Amino acid sequence: MDCIFCKIINKEIPAKVAYEDDNVVAFHDINPQAPIHLLIVPKKHITSVMEIDDEENLLLGDIILTAQNLARENNLDKKGFRIVVNTGEEGGQTVNHLHFHLLGGRFLTWPPG
Ligand code: AMP
Ligand code: ZN
Repeated sequence: MDCIFCKIINKEIPAKVAYEDDNVVAFHDINPQAPIHLLIVPKKHITSVMEIDDEENLLLGDIILTAQNLARENNLDKKGFRIVVNTGEEGGQTVNHLHFHLLGGRFLTWPPG
């Protein structure tokens, strides 16, 4: 499958991996939008939020707990941070493999662009 995140998961292309377990991988975004910008990705190829089904309950919990741990490791837990999941064309999704952006280390504006 021609999916850049699957290639990262399969170690076919390099990435700066911050965390990995059997189900989840987290790596640094190649084009960071904040001092801390990590992508938390299920190893299973799921195209978007709209393709999540009931059996993914535990996986989604793992992803949020991974975000929590990475926030703590990067000293974002007290200051705050943002988890973003862009979905579809108008949502700004450019990679069609579900991923959670973890952004922090600066004041983040609202509303987003
Ligand atoms: P989105 O636009 O929400 O689909 O997010 C995709 C993100 O993947 C963007 O922030 C890109 O900078 C990032 N990205 C694309 N290719 C790579 C790569 N090879 N390694 C790390 N991050 C990447
Ligand atoms: Zn994929």
